[in-house]
Amino acid sequence: MNVSVVLFTSDLRLHDHPPLRAALDGARQVVPLFVRDRAVLDTGFACPNRLAFLADCLRDLDAGLHDRGGRLVFRSGEVVEQVCRVAGAADADEVHLAADVSAYARAREDRLRRALEADGRRLHVHDTVTTAAPPGALTPAASDHFAVFTPYFRRWSDHPLRKVLAAPRTVRVPDGIGSEELPGREGLSGLSEGLARGGEREGRARLASWLRDGITSYDTGHDDLAGDATSRLSPHLHFGTLSPVELVHRARKAGGPGAEAFVRQLAWRDFHRQVLAARPAAGGADYRTRHDSWRSEAEAREDVEAWRAGQTGYPLVDAAMRQLRHEGWMHNRARMLTASFLTKTLYVDWRVGARHFLDLLVDGDLANNQLNWQWTAGTGTDTRPNRVLNPVAQAKRYDPDGVYVRRWVPELAGLEGPFVHEPWRLRGLDRAAVDYPDPIVDLAEGLARFRRARGLD
Ligand SMILES: Cc1cc2nc3c(=O)[nH]c(=O)nc-3n(C[C@H](O)[C@H](O)[C@H](O)COP(=O)(O)OP(=O)(O)OC[C@H]3O[C@@H](n4cnc5c(N)ncnc54)[C@H](O)[C@@H]3O)c2cc1C
Repeated sequence: MNVSVVLFTSDLRLHDHPPLRAALDGARQVVPLFVRDRAVLDTGFACPNRLAFLADCLRDLDAGLHDRGGRLVFRSGEVVEQVCRVAGAADADEVHLAADVSAYARAREDRLRRALEADGRRLHVHDTVTTAAPPGALTPAASDHFAVFTPYFRRWSDHPLRKVLAAPRTVRVPDGIGSEELPGREGLSGLSEGLARGGEREGRARLASWLRDGITSYDTGHDDLAGDATSRLSPHLHFGTLSPVELVHRARKAGGPGAEAFVRQLAWRDFHRQVLAARPAAGGADYRTRHDSWRSEAEAREDVEAWRAGQTGYPLVDAAMRQLRHEGWMHNRARMLTASFLTKTLYVDWRVGARHFLDLLVDGDLANNQLNWQWTAGTGTDTRPNRVLNPVAQAKRYDPDGVYVRRWVPELAGLEGPFVHEPWRLRGLDRAAVDYPDPIVDLAEGLARFRRARGLD
């Protein structure tokens, strides 16, 4: 066997990359290929923040391949057609690909397999590239997937991890395989100002500093909004510039309660992936219906606009929504609060919020976003579907000194003490001096509406 193609998708790295390793083991030469999928662009799933991060990742992958004597072949168009074309031009026997969980990715994989086989070539799909445990490998007795996290986590923790693979030393790419110019950040408009940089090198540097300085206090610090003490590795996991298998191995090696808590979060990621793999419709429909008659975007237009703009009058909600717009990223505690506020306090359809997150999040991910939104809306896997987070109580608990709010809501930066979380309690001239909206909803009324809608009262 002479040539193999490796089709990169959301696994944009050279370290711990099973498809690349298998291709190199089986062939003298390899074509590392990325196809910018026209269908994904057409669905609007590809937002500017993610396109920018992707461009960084592709350039970095290309640079890493150059260091090893190779290069990245970049094409745009219909994926199956492009892969078949490249495989034909290189006279490749095999194509290697990472397994994925969305309905779209799996249908594309089936089409690719059939098209390659019709040309006498084989498709190899590798699991444990984008997850630590393969979706579908762990199941309870009477179902095809786990619907509750705790028993899943128990099984996941006992599941043996494969070994971490070293990055290849050399990659030899056959001559004569044309590539389009790699995309860059230029020409992308609407990028978040504080958007992180993408790429495997960036991801590995962040991982090294996280393991050195951050992970030990993760168990105690991960909910401290002002402390910003989580790993911020989510975009690297989303684009696969870091391997989940490697992360679990290295965190376990680091050891201690911080590392254990961090590994548990990585298991949440696998958990949502195995739910989506088993129930692809959960990307857009209730996983467990509670028979909600949500307010639609049209019905709740002013509320939704205030929520998106960070102008709800609830400082912690507004701080979080402004962080999202500014960085294309938001802290997990803040994601839970803003999602609970939209779906439960304002009683707006979770899909409206999930869409807005996907429009901005650099780590925006079908499995993690839609299923976390559903978890918060109570239509997903939360075993307490009717819990409602109170933005004032959450603020006092997770931003006790108001540092996070002052960072993102400058109008409130000058307020002393508890007023920063409850500016509506200011009186007279003090209130008039603060250019900040009154709350768009009364929390007790919002709660009562939700409880009525769910038939709880
Ligand atoms: C409404 C809502 C929407 C979300 N949308 C996304 C999304 O689109 N993409 C995304 O990657 N995460 C999403 N999350 C999960 C979580 O908020 C982010 O993964 C996390 O904030 C990323 O920051 P970090 O890398 O510093 O996380 P850390 O706390 O350092 O955790 C490490 C890694 O574990 C995984 N992880 C952590 N928390 C969760 C979780 N609740 N569910 C699944 N995986 C988790 C992530 O891959 C994360 O990078 C969402 C959560 C909520 C409540």
